[in-house]
Amino acid sequence: MAREFNSVGVVGLGTMGAGIVEVFARSGITVIAVEVNDAALERGKATITSSTERAVARGKLSADDRDALLSRITFTTELEGLRDVDLVVEAVPEQLELKQQIFSELDRICKPETILATNTSSLSVTEISVATARPNQVLGIHFFNPAPVMKLVEVVRTVVTEPGVIADVEALCARLGKVDVTINDRAGFIANALLFGYLNHAVELYQSRYASREDIDAAMKLGCGLPMGPLALMDLIGLDTAYEILDTMYRRGGRDRRHAPVPLLKQMVTAGLLGRKSGRGFYTYEKPGSPVVVPDELTPPAADVTHAEGVRSVAKVGVVGSGTMATGIVEVFARAGYEVVSVTRGAEKSARVREAVKTSLNKGVVRGKLAEADRDAALSRITWSNTLEHLADVDLVVEAVVEELSVKKALFASLDEICKPGVVLATTTSSLPVIELAMATQRPADVLGMHFFNPAPVMPLVEIVETIRTSPEAVATARAICAQLGKTGVVCGDRAGFIVNALLFPYLNDAVKMLEASYATADDIDNAMRLGCGYPMGPFELLDVVGLDVALAIQRELYLELREPGFAPAPLLEHLVTAGYLGRKSGRGFRHHARR
Ligand code: NAD
Repeated sequence: MAREFNSVGVVGLGTMGAGIVEVFARSGITVIAVEVNDAALERGKATITSSTERAVARGKLSADDRDALLSRITFTTELEGLRDVDLVVEAVPEQLELKQQIFSELDRICKPETILATNTSSLSVTEISVATARPNQVLGIHFFNPAPVMKLVEVVRTVVTEPGVIADVEALCARLGKVDVTINDRAGFIANALLFGYLNHAVELYQSRYASREDIDAAMKLGCGLPMGPLALMDLIGLDTAYEILDTMYRRGGRDRRHAPVPLLKQMVTAGLLGRKSGRGFYTYEKPGSPVVVPDELTPPAADVTHAEGVRSVAKVGVVGSGTMATGIVEVFARAGYEVVSVTRGAEKSARVREAVKTSLNKGVVRGKLAEADRDAALSRITWSNTLEHLADVDLVVEAVVEELSVKKALFASLDEICKPGVVLATTTSSLPVIELAMATQRPADVLGMHFFNPAPVMPLVEIVETIRTSPEAVATARAICAQLGKTGVVCGDRAGFIVNALLFPYLNDAVKMLEASYATADDIDNAMRLGCGYPMGPFELLDVVGLDVALAIQRELYLELREPGFAPAPLLEHLVTAGYLGRKSGRGFRHHARR
């Protein structure tokens, strides 16, 4: 029989504690909520009131249930109030000494059978537990932010936690409607160990002015389907908390430089820019605690990018190549009303591209997303050619040929001779330096990257890559074109992986390293990232879709260019690729797949 938890104490009612109180009270459990002083208590109370208020407004909770929920909570500033509870969850700031002091007091105050849990994200649960005389009844119960919404709970056992205690808490998680993964006591557990290197890297990209905050966040949302971008997420987590978590992970996790908090973070924390809770972090909020972003001095003007200064007029577009990307890009431009010249290396290839574009447009018609007349008009806008000479009068060229530097350089040299002056020459390369292609021409100012995502007609993002030679007019033109295509164009510098791949693949590689270290199973890791962080797919699901060979190639590229030791490809990834386990396309990757 699992132990009954009728009453629970929560210590600390900040970002996490307030949400945790709500989770328990919602499930019919009596909660005693403790804060350090009256002001903090009032703040915590207000958070819970407005959160339940929002739930009622959205129809997720009835007014009666809200009243019942609130009536189950007692607010106090006295830890002594926790004498008779069955479980305490501590959610005070991420400082070891503070947590140890609270645990030692809880040990003195609470009845002997009370289970003591910490919501720490990165500190050692073991070190916290030894501040008590009952370390066998101490564990980690790590909720995710916002606690009432996120389904995952990481249950953390130390080497001395009694198995019965773990089983009881697992049963409690089920009662709360949460999914738990049970793991050992290691810095960052599953989710934060995979998440924080990525978040810190995003802050570094922002700090180095590699891209704007809006563009970094839009890239990860639209390129990876994440619920929010990394900088907005940092604001939600709280920059002080994020700093402490990174700092602890750096010290406990083998001093991986990627966890050393980026200097900007410390500066922002010192300046009181803590994120949503203080009303300002990477973004500015309506008021402290509000999720509503308001414009500030860094917000780009809401100008019409299609008529911005320097935008060149583009009516006719050349697309070079016959692969998946070129095919998708031909369709995207033709659908958006551009005249398109598709250039491939032979009639047979052109016929294949034409068929593929037709099939895709037909699908749009079948699904009711495209009128037959619009399909026919789109097809009639495309000219099929096998010679680059036909690009003499286009206004833009998008190159999507094989990912080989020598081939692309030769192509750019030819385009330079054929195309009229003022044409923007764009490459869709995902890994080669754009500047190499620019320097193969006599007009490097007109060369940039337009990195579309696969499938191009569906994915809403384009990374516009500017080299140190690209002119502002060429960038403005690329932005205007993206807007015309109905895509979001984000501008970034000419570095390996641009924004999305540079932030995504090291995270995937880290997941492989975690699996290799036998810390957790692929299923638990996938669950943790989906349910704890809102990823549309777990890292192993995604690796099998992307292709392990592709992931390995990109990771190698990042490692070679950035020389970051933590980016070294996971040996397991290399072995799987060598063994021919490439993911869905080969029928086996991290999992088995039915062959298509
Ligand atoms: P926070 O700063 O928002 O809240 C901490 C609260 O603890 C404050 O309200 C503070 O007044 C209160 N407090 C301080 N000393 C206290 C004491 N002696 N007694 C009672 N209350 C006290 O921090 P947070 O983000 O909620 O983080 C709390 C814990 O949860 C940390 O261990 C953190 O690592 C972990 N965590 C945070 C997140 C997140 O996204 N923010 C997610 C999961 C876990």
